[in-house]
Amino acid sequence: MEKIPFITKEQAEEIAKTYPTPFHIYDEKGIRENARLVKKAFAWNKGYKEYFAVKATPNPFILKILKEEGCGVDCSSYTELQMSDACGFSGSDIMFSSNVTPAQDYELAYKLGAYINLDDLTHVDYLDKLTGIPETICCRFNAGGKFTISTQIMDSPEDAKYGFTREQMFEGFRKLQKLGAKHFGIHAFLASNTVTNDYYPTLAKQMFQLAVDLKNETGADIKFINLSGGVGVAYKPDQQPNDIMAIGEGVHKVFDEILVPAGLGDVAIFTEMGRFMLAPYGALVSRVLHKKHIYKEYVGLDACAANLMRPAMYGAYHHITVLGKENEPCTYKCDVTGGLCENNDKFAIDRMLPPVEIGDLVYIHDAGAHGFSMGYNYNGKLRSAELLLCEDGSVKMIRRAETPADYFATFDFCDVMDKYLNK
Ligand SMILES: *Cc1c(COP(=O)(O)O)cnc(C)c1O
Repeated sequence: MEKIPFITKEQAEEIAKTYPTPFHIYDEKGIRENARLVKKAFAWNKGYKEYFAVKATPNPFILKILKEEGCGVDCSSYTELQMSDACGFSGSDIMFSSNVTPAQDYELAYKLGAYINLDDLTHVDYLDKLTGIPETICCRFNAGGKFTISTQIMDSPEDAKYGFTREQMFEGFRKLQKLGAKHFGIHAFLASNTVTNDYYPTLAKQMFQLAVDLKNETGADIKFINLSGGVGVAYKPDQQPNDIMAIGEGVHKVFDEILVPAGLGDVAIFTEMGRFMLAPYGALVSRVLHKKHIYKEYVGLDACAANLMRPAMYGAYHHITVLGKENEPCTYKCDVTGGLCENNDKFAIDRMLPPVEIGDLVYIHDAGAHGFSMGYNYNGKLRSAELLLCEDGSVKMIRRAETPADYFATFDFCDVMDKYLNK
């Protein structure tokens, strides 16, 4: 499928007059429409709720939009809990799915009344000593082995650090019951960025069978099953995007096959999607600063991996549109790079683009999740602004760009950087 930017070159140039490049921009209309579709896809389940994975796009303005669309939040750290609290999420609107959890994080999650999702059997005692066990508690399951759909290996849970083994799930439930837990949740995240409508239904089948076994063996009251994240997006133009309605129906079918006959028809289905909720509705917009011809052709941008790390970190593909040249033939082969002193700072390698000129604006697609949020300050690079293209067409700043004073702020305990600290 052709990938079409949600802003034009003219819009981007207009925005750049107020907010210099690079910037991340999000499409409110796209976010809302997609969130409504997700809700519709699971409307057959009475207790359904999407808990947006805050780590994907930790911006209060985005969280508030999702809150208005009926979503909760999935947090895994102290500051994510604080941001969610400040945005008005509380109690059962918050899922706390952490691992290697510090005491203060559990204490805050408990205080906010969040659903706590334990990552390990040893956390049962750890939490019990800290806060006591809440009435409703969730355990994260790691199925081990390979996660396959038909014969295709999707991921390797056996190599993942998360969750309880199957045996530990039973032991954990019994222990939690003794410590006062009354209601239970089950969580599992077994494959990442899946682009197939079969991931959730295949995962759901495993989890539903586990839920039935847990209920039969421990008598536990299972209140929710959290399918977590992992629903991917079509980063590449030749990929077929996931169809969330088909995914919802696929889960519905196994729900009716397994849970309903076992007397578990009241179980709520939760999801914790980050990527699927936001990735396509955010872009990184950057300007071409330099062109360079050595053994290869290079196009150097004013953005770098500090603004979007996925290509450098995972070799991930992000589609690039040269704004205003959408209809020109892609005859120019180049590496698109940032300015870090790190040769992996490349947004694209051997990419075919229309002939690019200095000053062109490039639009890097699908940066709305795990984009800005993975940013860092290597080489003293500063993080960009985040902007929102509102439903009425106006543009609102939802995070200002960092300044050198922000970068030096952690030296405010002394006077060595005062010259640049605006003190
Ligand atoms: C990262 C994460 C998610 C979201 O994953 P996506 O791939 O963005 O959907 C959900 N739950 C947990 C526990 C996570 O760590």
